[in-house]
Amino acid sequence: MSRPRVIRCAACAGRIKPHHPHIGVEDLETGKEFSYHARPDCQIRCAEETATRLEAGKVYAMHHYHSSWCPDEAPGFGCAGGCFDTPMAVAN
Ligand SMILES: [Zn+2]
Ligand SMILES: [Zn+2]
Repeated sequence: MSRPRVIRCAACAGRIKPHHPHIGVEDLETGKEFSYHARPDCQIRCAEETATRLEAGKVYAMHHYHSSWCPDEAPGFGCAGGCFDTPMAVAN
């Protein structure tokens, strides 16, 4: 287990720094996790792709990883660190 874990965004294929806020979508069947940047365009891709996978009958758990400097003890949307200021889906 010496290989460092490299996280790549499933939306833009860019690398995600582990200490930066990001979203994980875990496939509860396989334990495989898709990761996405916290920025709005990647979040929207995340919502769309997760909806597609849910339609295929998959079961997922969403994880919100806050930045390592986030001061909230029980962080969520609108946390004091501002990790996920943008809502998951754009309201029309
Ligand atoms: Zn991304
Ligand atoms: Zn936070």
